[in-house]
Amino acid sequence: MTDLRTLDAGALRALRQDLLARYDAFRARGLTLDMTRGKPSPEQLDLSLPMFANAETQYLSESGIDCRNYGGLDGLPEAKRLFAEYLGVATDEVIVGGASSLAMMYETIVRAVIFGVPGGAGPWGQRETKFLCPCPGYDRHFAICEELGIGMVPIALYDDGPDMDAIEDLVARDSAIVGIWCVPKYSNPTGTVYSDAVVERLARMETAAPDFRIFWDNSYAVHSFEGEPAPLRNLLEACVAAGHPERALIYASTAKITFAGAGVSAMAASRVNVTWSLRHMGIQTIGPDKLNQLRHVQFLRDMPTILAHMARHAAIMKPKFDAVQTVLGQELGGKGIAHWTNPAGGYFVSLDTMDGCATEVIRIAAEAGVRLTPAGSTFPYRRDPRDRNIRIAPSFPAQKEVEMAMELLAVCILLVSIDRLLAQA
Ligand code: PLP
Repeated sequence: MTDLRTLDAGALRALRQDLLARYDAFRARGLTLDMTRGKPSPEQLDLSLPMFANAETQYLSESGIDCRNYGGLDGLPEAKRLFAEYLGVATDEVIVGGASSLAMMYETIVRAVIFGVPGGAGPWGQRETKFLCPCPGYDRHFAICEELGIGMVPIALYDDGPDMDAIEDLVARDSAIVGIWCVPKYSNPTGTVYSDAVVERLARMETAAPDFRIFWDNSYAVHSFEGEPAPLRNLLEACVAAGHPERALIYASTAKITFAGAGVSAMAASRVNVTWSLRHMGIQTIGPDKLNQLRHVQFLRDMPTILAHMARHAAIMKPKFDAVQTVLGQELGGKGIAHWTNPAGGYFVSLDTMDGCATEVIRIAAEAGVRLTPAGSTFPYRRDPRDRNIRIAPSFPAQKEVEMAMELLAVCILLVSIDRLLAQA
């Protein structure tokens, strides 16, 4: 493996010729691979089909609630019990909702913008507000802030979580900062798991805004590729212990456990926040889809059953994530032009090219038939200041397709990097 930055122009041009031939061969194959979103593959979705066995006759909850009818705003009692176990909170600290946790996050923020949150200084919409955004991060989080006029402050994300020195400094002196987005386990897209120390500091820090909230999107709580999921310090417990019980708003769903479009979502928070949410939810709806909640509880049962189910997902996911590492390692390892994460779970790999190359890499990959998430997506306002981050989502395509797509991506990175080096020479 030669570091390309040490090669002279002649050697780089020779390499470029070979790579161009490989690139053209890919183009001639007429590939159409979509690696834009972290979707479960059909094979993964099939794992949860047994949920529908006897679905026609199963509509009574364990206490006799007819789940076909209205009611149960906070969710079916047994669904609340399951999510309480899943998130490590009390049953009355949980609301179980519809299919999408992102929708729950959006609704929470819309309510905060219109009505304000408990302990706050009025509606967020009536003053300047900002969120801290560890990045690279999840584009849909950033889109919510952008749509609702909440400013975004990028924060560096390290191996153990966001830059806590920067965060503590900013929240202490800027009362417009009312929130932070966190994906604390197998983060989208880097795979980062927050350390206990980071969780403690988030819970303890003093904030100038009295109504500061942590949006704790624990979408990948049990989504490891091998063995037990990584441990994560309980944020609600840490916030209560630190004297900031209202700070934690925790979200999760079964989107990547059962069905991405038809799972069950949940929110966990202090009783004060739960009561506040339910008061507004009661105006919005008469109740969630309890039939889906019931099917999910009967299928997922308890944590050991969930973990056994996730092991079946892992058996499908791990070879694809291994393929990403193998191909990128073979093609790009030691060449000094890219580095990438090697997550132990979740749905993504985050890759950084040399500065200023990501947009062009994604453009030429698309021309050869592999679509990737647009450059900049992992940053607030879609602005990657170094134009280098690429999110890789290997879950949906078949194993062979992942291998092909990674080879093409590597060829594109090599070509664009060589052009950059030649331009600098
Ligand atoms: N949060 C994160 C970090 C995600 O990566 C995703 C989907 O990719 C979601 C939320 C969406 O969750 P849901 O389907 O429950 O709305």
